[in-house]
Amino acid sequence: MTPLVEARSLGKVFPMGGGPVHALRDISVEIAAGEYLAIRGPSGCGKSTLLHILGCVDTPSAGTLLFDGREVGSLSDEARSDLRLRSIGFVFQRFFLLPMLTAAENVDVPQAEAGVPKAERRRRTAALLEYVGLAHRADHRPSQLSGGEAQRVAVARALANRPRLLLADEPTGELDRANGEHIAELLDRVQADGTAVVVVTHDAALAERAARRLLMRDGRIESEERGR
Ligand code: ADP
Ligand code: MG
Repeated sequence: MTPLVEARSLGKVFPMGGGPVHALRDISVEIAAGEYLAIRGPSGCGKSTLLHILGCVDTPSAGTLLFDGREVGSLSDEARSDLRLRSIGFVFQRFFLLPMLTAAENVDVPQAEAGVPKAERRRRTAALLEYVGLAHRADHRPSQLSGGEAQRVAVARALANRPRLLLADEPTGELDRANGEHIAELLDRVQADGTAVVVVTHDAALAERAARRLLMRDGRIESEERGR
């Protein structure tokens, strides 16, 4: 079967004043549809850079990325934006909700961008807020939510266009243990419901929930573990 994502020998160099930074070196990884992958490694080893490339928000300096068998580098900017909007969801450490919008409006935005009709958007937003346990917070703005609630809204937003891949960059990094556990359970459910999940995390308990774990060091994949 075609993997959902196939990265072949990805490299990423940031040209900087003090000399080029080799953030990724020769990264090859396949992610199957519906798989749960965790990525760990010390700060600065390239985890976020890799996630951005897998999520098609950044481009590699070397190598090839295939999404569902299509070479991402050969897509037009428009086709790439469309792929990102419809097939990939992102969750960040600091939530990045739009502060002027309510929880429901934040979940509505990507659907509106994708041209989903209003009545369908309203239904889907209600179902998603219900899914993350926040139906009662629909009209709250981010400043009126706890960190744990804000992150659950961010997960709902990331799922708004029913992506095939959910990427989460240290999603529990700003949360206390109980809220971190909530997010971990939510990611388990997202994966059980059929979405591939890739989570970058320092949290060993969260990484242990993934069926497969990569350890990165200095821009490379140092080792891989399977099994829970
Ligand atoms: P991690 O997420 O594992 O902490 P990153 O992927 O953020 O690591 O960074 C990997 C390396 O690339 C680091 O040395 C970092 O300083 C560098 N880097 C990341 N993003 C940029 C950028 N936009 N410009 C220059 N250097 C960057
Ligand atoms: Mg990072």
